Amino acid sequence: MMISEQITKLRNLLVASDRIVVFTGAGISTESGIPDFRSPNGIWSKMAPIEFQDFVNSEEMRREAWRRKVVIDKDIQQAQPNRGHRAVAKLVESGKCFCVITQNIDGLHQSSGIPPEKIVEIHGNGTYAKCLSCAKRFELSDIYVAFNRDETLPICDSCGGIVKTATISFGQAMPEEEMQRAEYAANNCDLMIAIGSSLVVYPAAGFPIYAKRNGANLVIINREQTEQDQIADLVLNSEIGETLGEALDVD
Ligand code: NAD
Repeated sequence: MMISEQITKLRNLLVASDRIVVFTGAGISTESGIPDFRSPNGIWSKMAPIEFQDFVNSEEMRREAWRRKVVIDKDIQQAQPNRGHRAVAKLVESGKCFCVITQNIDGLHQSSGIPPEKIVEIHGNGTYAKCLSCAKRFELSDIYVAFNRDETLPICDSCGGIVKTATISFGQAMPEEEMQRAEYAANNCDLMIAIGSSLVVYPAAGFPIYAKRNGANLVIINREQTEQDQIADLVLNSEIGETLGEALDVD
C-alpha cells in the first residue's frame, strides 16, 4: 500500500472511532531533537542503561547517572513540541482521544497543551526529581548548581534519602496508579495508535496487546518494523510528524 493510501486508511479509522488511546515512545520526540534509545544513533548505541539497584547501591553510579542527566538535559530543556505532538494534541482536543499513555519522560505532551489528567506517564517524568524514601519533590536547577560545582549528589533535606529524577529505571517498580490508569485506557478504547515505540519494553509494550485483545483496532506508526506489526490493523512505516500532520491536518 502506498503511504498516501495508508494515511487515508488512518483518517477513516480516526473518523470511525470515538474512544481513542494514543501510546507514545521516544520516537515522537526525536523530531524535537531528543535522541531515542534504540535507533542506530540512539542513546544506547553510546552507553548501557544504569539499573535501579546499581543507582541505589553505588555512589559512583549515582554520579554517573547525574553526569548523563546533565548532558541529556541540554537537549530536553530546549526541546519544543513538534508536528507529531501537535497532531496528538488536536486529537485530544477534538474529544475523540481520552488518554495519551507515554513512555516519554520529556514533558512535551504537556507542553503541547494536553491537559495533565489526560496523560499517563508510565515511566515517570524527567523534568524534576524526587526523594526515593519520602517522595519530596526537588527541582533540577537547584540540584545542578551543586552537582556542576563539585559533583555533590542530591540528598533529601527532609529525611536524608537518595534523590533521583522522577523517572522509572530498569529494575524499579512501575508506578501503581499510572499502570492502573493505562490498563483501564487500553481495555476501554476502540482504537489504539502506537507511535514511535520499538514495543519491546515491558510492561509498557503490553498495552497495545491489551487493546487488541479487547477488540480495539491497532495502528502502529514507526519508521522501522516492530514486534507487534503482525497483530496491527494498519502499520505506517513512515516519519511521525509528517504522517500525523497529514492525517490530522496539522502543520
Ligand atoms: P525506543 O528508543 O526503543 O524506540 C523508538 C522507536 O521510534 C524506534 O523504533 C525508532 O525507529 C522510532 N522512531 C524514532 N524517530 C522516529 C520518527 N521521527 N518517525 C518514525 N519513527 C521514529 O523508545 P521507546 O519504545 O520509547 O522505549 C525506550 C524507553 O526510553 C522508554 O522507556 C522511554 O521512557 C525512554 N526514553 C524517553 C525519551 C523521551 O522522553 N523523549 C527519550 C529516550 C528514551
